[in-house]
Amino acid sequence: AKTAGGHRVASGGADPAPPPDPRQLGLETRLRQAIEDDEFVLHYQLQFALDDGRPVGAEALLRWPREDGQWLPGRFIGLIDEGGMTVALGERVIVQAIAQLRRWREAGLAPVPVSVNISPRQCLDDRLPELVAERLAQEQVPAALLKIEITESAAMHDPQHLRGLLERLRAMGVQIALDDFGTGYSSLAHLRDMPVDQIKIDPGFVGSMEQHAGSRAIVEATIALAHGLKVPVVAEGVESARQLELLRSLGCDQVQGFLLAHPLPPDALAERLRDGSSASDHISRCSPALS
Ligand code: C2E
Ligand code: MG
Ligand code: MG
Ligand code: MG
Repeated sequence: AKTAGGHRVASGGADPAPPPDPRQLGLETRLRQAIEDDEFVLHYQLQFALDDGRPVGAEALLRWPREDGQWLPGRFIGLIDEGGMTVALGERVIVQAIAQLRRWREAGLAPVPVSVNISPRQCLDDRLPELVAERLAQEQVPAALLKIEITESAAMHDPQHLRGLLERLRAMGVQIALDDFGTGYSSLAHLRDMPVDQIKIDPGFVGSMEQHAGSRAIVEATIALAHGLKVPVVAEGVESARQLELLRSLGCDQVQGFLLAHPLPPDALAERLRDGSSASDHISRCSPALS
């Protein structure tokens, strides 16, 4: 066994637990405090229909504003999980996203559904549907404006349990998206029986589909599968006009990526929605046939 510092530790039979890294412990404490003080914020990345460029949704993405800039989830979500804070933070995310939907509605913005990411651990929390129902009622937001994103790995961890949870959410009118499709260990039979309203193609495949025939085959197969299941498919991580055009020719329904919109703070997103023009301009510019 090796410690974080790389030193060999004598192990007599069972491995002793590695001594905790004090820097990590400090960060964990700081994260706990940050949840309590509600320091986390959500940025929103728009998704667009590929046929006419209209915005069809926005994904809520977690950000932690710190002295040295915005921290992205990759930097802290693992520690949140290890520290047993997943459910507490997840609840804050749901509360914030639904409150934001209410504010946008009050401001008279054309409503687009907001997608919230739910971690595998959160899927095991049976109070999730009640929390969602309570917040939607409290903020008077229609359930159809909320979408829950689950990853394929969560979906396949305990399919029976997850299916029950999703069906409870669905019965309320909440939509379900399957995130990062193709990266987990899914059984197609489980997918068939899962109530799902949208399938998301992982950026890894979108980013390499022009160079790798295999990635392109996976993108094509995912689109065909989604359409066979009668759900729209969104390609994530679209960064170039060429990718956009290829996805269009393959029959993809929706796109999300830096080419069209970066994740934005709520006010900037509202501005962008009021503006209306920019994304549809981009999509029609890339497709003369449509303009
Ligand atoms: P995800 O749900 O697959 O989210 C998409 C990620 O791709 C986001 O990274 C987004 O900023 C990034 N992205 C979007 N367009 C592009 C593009 O064109 N190019 C590239 N290279 N990247 C693009 P982000 O915000 O760093 O989030 C990473 C992951 O963290 C998310 O992956 C999601 O799994 C997780 N996450 C984010 N917010 C939450 C949350 O509130 N709760 C939970 N449990 N997980 C979250
Ligand atoms: Mg997501
Ligand atoms: Mg994804
Ligand atoms: Mg991801």
